[in-house]
Amino acid sequence: MSIFLEACRSLLKPKATLRYPLGGKDLLQIPDGYRGKMALKREACIGCTICEKDCPSSAITIITDQKGKRPVFYLDRCMFCGQCKESCPTKAISFTKDFENASYDRKTMEVR
Ligand code: SF4
Ligand code: SF4
Repeated sequence: MSIFLEACRSLLKPKATLRYPLGGKDLLQIPDGYRGKMALKREACIGCTICEKDCPSSAITIITDQKGKRPVFYLDRCMFCGQCKESCPTKAISFTKDFENASYDRKTMEVR
């Protein structure tokens, strides 16, 4: 097919791209099961430290607060492999669809 015909054919096809980020992230259809920023169900965490031990990126540190031991996640080290969620015996860890986590400030990349 000539390049001219191919160009005409492509012009008539529906758009394959989205106006992200200009159109906002509501345009995106993020699939269920997507591993974005993690969330901790604090009341479910028993402070067992398994997530910290199993994390291949050393992206979790266990701290102690007034309720006992709990993990802090460091997004700048996390590779979103999902191992912490798999390992957690109480299902305290989940992943949200939040993927816009780039930052110049490492402090904002902590999930507490
Ligand atoms: S998703 Fe993987 S890399 Fe990220 S904190 Fe969990 S175990 Fe570590
Ligand atoms: S593995 Fe689960 S219960 Fe254990 S410290 Fe991590 S989040 Fe808490």
